[in-house]
Amino acid sequence: MIKAIKGTKDILPDSIGKWKHVENLISLIFKNYNYKEIRTPVFEETSLFARGIGEATDIVGKEMYTFEDRSKTSITLKPEMTASVVRAFIEHSLGKKQSLNKLYYISPMFRQERPQAGRLREFHQFGAEALGSSSPLLDVEMISMAYGILSGLGLKDLTIKINSLGTPESRKKYTQELRKYLNDKEHLLSGESKERISKNILRIFDSKIENDIEVMKGAPLLLDYLDNESKDDFEKVKSSLTSSKISFEIDTSLVRGLDYYTKTTFEIISGKVGAQSALCGGGRYDLLVEQLGGEPTPGTGFAAGIERILIACENENSFEVTEPSINLYIVCLEKTLMAKTYELAQSIRRNNISVEMDYIGRSIKAQMREANKFNAKFALFFGGEEYQSHKSQLKNMETGEQEIISLENIINKINV
Ligand code: AMP
Repeated sequence: MIKAIKGTKDILPDSIGKWKHVENLISLIFKNYNYKEIRTPVFEETSLFARGIGEATDIVGKEMYTFEDRSKTSITLKPEMTASVVRAFIEHSLGKKQSLNKLYYISPMFRQERPQAGRLREFHQFGAEALGSSSPLLDVEMISMAYGILSGLGLKDLTIKINSLGTPESRKKYTQELRKYLNDKEHLLSGESKERISKNILRIFDSKIENDIEVMKGAPLLLDYLDNESKDDFEKVKSSLTSSKISFEIDTSLVRGLDYYTKTTFEIISGKVGAQSALCGGGRYDLLVEQLGGEPTPGTGFAAGIERILIACENENSFEVTEPSINLYIVCLEKTLMAKTYELAQSIRRNNISVEMDYIGRSIKAQMREANKFNAKFALFFGGEEYQSHKSQLKNMETGEQEIISLENIINKINV
């Protein structure tokens, strides 16, 4: 038996209602903030992600689905969207057409991580990118939209964490200090953290290993090494969040996994999803466009994982979707009338009325069971005595009322 690949999931019809509910809210909130949807290919040249995300990151180092296609080009299934959006932004000169581009997406992503609850190999992210302004108000806008969507789904146990990573110069000064601090403590660190000292020292803050956490508690803080502009912008982010009545915490260890972040970074955490608690993360990336070959253009954005959000919604019982219903079920009373039933169904469907009928020769009782299963608003009993006079019994399934109607009238009757 061939099964779905480990870490991938089928989304079956009975969960589609929830997905649509989430997707509709995402589109609504982005529309309110005037973000335009963008769709990019599922795969890209590997070098885009290697350059855009950073060779030393976990994503590029160990998680990408990379393969050579038949023409020996190295291809990667997209592990995140920012690099792709920036590539499209540069390729289509979007910055020349509009000075500030506000874009959003909903798309599958692929990372070869160890699957566990809330961690998949194919998962779905939505997110936004604003390219063309260094205003900290846009950082706040990202946090507000993400928070708006999560709270709009009824989630309550949410914590917003923010930090600033400063500019590369201030970060460099800081990493020197951090290296000095860790100099005589290296032996206390885990193997992975030891490796990170030379590769990606800030990521040691991400370690979940107790000894590492203990060592890092005493480390100097990046916030104390910020350049004036980053400090100023961070103050503006905080005051604008406060005046928007959005509560937040400052988390000095929030370094995020990707190399391209500058200044503000943030995450929204749920207390209801277990170990994989980050529902969403993002921040400013003022150097990425240039790094990928475009004109220097500041940018900011975020990405959120839909599967993880749905786990949080489930655990908080935060929303319910009503089962979709159909307008009409035509109960075919005589098997010889099946083709005629189909003709009738077709003519009604052309009026944008949803109609179901029996295709497998069920008994009348079984057809009624189907009508109930699909929450049909009306059932029409097609055949029998009334058939010759072009009439049928129509039953209102909510009230139980039944009447004989002329078939020409059926659309009016169902539409009332
Ligand atoms: P990142 O792009 O790593 O900052 O992730 C942003 C969000 O995407 C996370 O907060 C998660 O909600 C989601 N996410 C990231 N990786 C995975 C994964 N392997 N499986 C499911 N969701 C993920």
